[in-house]
Amino acid sequence: MRERSSDSRFSAVADNLKRIEENIAEAKLKAGRNDEVRLMGVTKTVDPEVVNFSVWQGVKLLGENRVQEFLGKRDAYEGDPEIHFIGSLQTNKVKYIIDKVSMIHSANSLHLIEEINKRAAAAGLTMDILIEVNIGEEESKSGIPPADVMSLADSIGELSNVRLRGLMAIPPVDTDGSSERYFAQMQKLFSDLKAKTSGDGHSLVDTLSMGMSGDYVQAIMHGSTIVRIGSVLYGYRKYN
Ligand SMILES: *Cc1c(COP(=O)(O)O)cnc(C)c1O
Repeated sequence: MRERSSDSRFSAVADNLKRIEENIAEAKLKAGRNDEVRLMGVTKTVDPEVVNFSVWQGVKLLGENRVQEFLGKRDAYEGDPEIHFIGSLQTNKVKYIIDKVSMIHSANSLHLIEEINKRAAAAGLTMDILIEVNIGEEESKSGIPPADVMSLADSIGELSNVRLRGLMAIPPVDTDGSSERYFAQMQKLFSDLKAKTSGDGHSLVDTLSMGMSGDYVQAIMHGSTIVRIGSVLYGYRKYN
């Protein structure tokens, strides 16, 4: 028997999901898009039973931030969701997740990408990766400076067990309270990367991961293909 309090927790997630899906559909319509925009449920701090409920409700893709938390929770996951790693990843932790996720969004140095390549080769797989771009060029944030993305893409092309799928960003909030211009810059960079890699026989650049609880509608207007949603889906959390 579920407790009453957890019942309301579940129904809140169902309501939130419905609203988010409506907002995504509306944003796509407004942007004149009929390609796919995937909703990722960002699970940090969320109980596995709530995550499972969201999966039953139709969230097919989960985003994991912390290696330790993920390893502790994954056995409790049900419904066979697709899982991507989105958090900052230390090279010495790559081995723990290499065969447990299908994409890494937070590839933010050649050193890390080489380690992913090495571990993927050892596990007999090819890992899909996104280059994390520090689009606001903020000191405090990780990610590749926009100017270095193309040369990093070239280096990735040399590695046989990683496949470049696109870009990810966590843009700063601009002085006018929006991330608009950063999303526009990411859209341009993504389209340049697509043009550069098309037909190289190695990359498959089709993924632009941007937009979170506060700005996913805006991100979709600028071509995002995965929106990473935590708090407006699962509720307020005390820490990040
Ligand atoms: C926490 C987190 C999110 C989701 O943030 P919300 O604002 O709660 O939607 C998305 N992406 C990354 C990388 C995160 O760490």
